[in-house]
Amino acid sequence: MFNVFHRHQNNIALAVAALERYSIKPEVQQRLRAFLQQSDRRELYHANPKRIAEKLQLSERETLRVLVIALKEGILTLNWDIQCPACRGIDFKPKSLSDLRTNHLCTACDSVYATDADEQVRVTFSIDEKLRRLEKAFDDPAFRAKIDAEYGVVSGHQLLTLQTFRDLFPRETILPNESLVIQRVAILFTDLAGSTALYARRGDSRAYNLVRQHFDLLFHVVDAHNGVVVKTIGDAVMAAFTVPSDAMQAAIAMNHQMQALNLRLQLAAEDQLILKIGIDVGPCISVNLNERLDYFGTTVNTAARVEAKSLGNDIACTENVLIDSDVANVVKDFPRVGNTMSLKGLDTQIMVYRIQPKQAIASIK
Ligand SMILES: [Zn+2]
Repeated sequence: MFNVFHRHQNNIALAVAALERYSIKPEVQQRLRAFLQQSDRRELYHANPKRIAEKLQLSERETLRVLVIALKEGILTLNWDIQCPACRGIDFKPKSLSDLRTNHLCTACDSVYATDADEQVRVTFSIDEKLRRLEKAFDDPAFRAKIDAEYGVVSGHQLLTLQTFRDLFPRETILPNESLVIQRVAILFTDLAGSTALYARRGDSRAYNLVRQHFDLLFHVVDAHNGVVVKTIGDAVMAAFTVPSDAMQAAIAMNHQMQALNLRLQLAAEDQLILKIGIDVGPCISVNLNERLDYFGTTVNTAARVEAKSLGNDIACTENVLIDSDVANVVKDFPRVGNTMSLKGLDTQIMVYRIQPKQAIASIK
């Protein structure tokens, strides 16, 4: 007994020590080790990340980052548990995104329902069997249900908008021809105004060097605001956020930082990088496009069309974005202009607002 127990504890300690190279703080490593070595093994079976966040004394987002790194290092396994909307039973089988289908059959009550990454799919983590065996006795649904009720759950969609997950598991995606329902996502598009002229004036390599720096800046801002870069298209970036006010905060930070970059590079007025931004929020579906997880639907199309209405150094968005109370609070002191516009490819006219972040104006003039 002594040997087996101590071998496990030692293996866990060694495995967690490997997280050092990801710049995970020693105190966080120590708390993770204590969590994995604890005596109550029910905690380690389909563990709720919100519960682990409390143990690690980190934010939910920081916790997910640590857990995804631990997943990469083989310390944990990831589960895409699905809760049936009819009988509330949980299907524990999906171990990867490719196990999820457009429609899910509940084997307990025979209901078939569209797989919803916000409402039904939730992520949990288990300790890898190599480190510690979890016998059947530790699978305690009542124990987990109590934790879920107390802490809430982390949706599959939240993990999909974690940049670390996309970076470490770029091939993790759903199958072609399958899709997941996304109840609500804020889609943000950016583009550079006048970049064609910039390339012509500065030459391809100098212009590209500027564009590259602008990409680095935007990627950093998206990650810092809990979002994910879905893809780049030419000089444009498409990003997704589960919380609309995160998208708006990111847009404001992009505006400020781009203007700071222009100042730092001491660019002549005609060579300055002018960022156009558009945001919409709403439902869409998540699909596998070119081996990569992408979003598809009217919200995505609208966000792209709204970005085209941005004049640069401003933020264009739809009314759906502004009616979010947190967004309204973030932009309450900023001047805005609203116009009813018809957007290319969309049947109905919609209100598009252009918001001018205050500091941005002050630093231009
Ligand atoms: Zn069911």
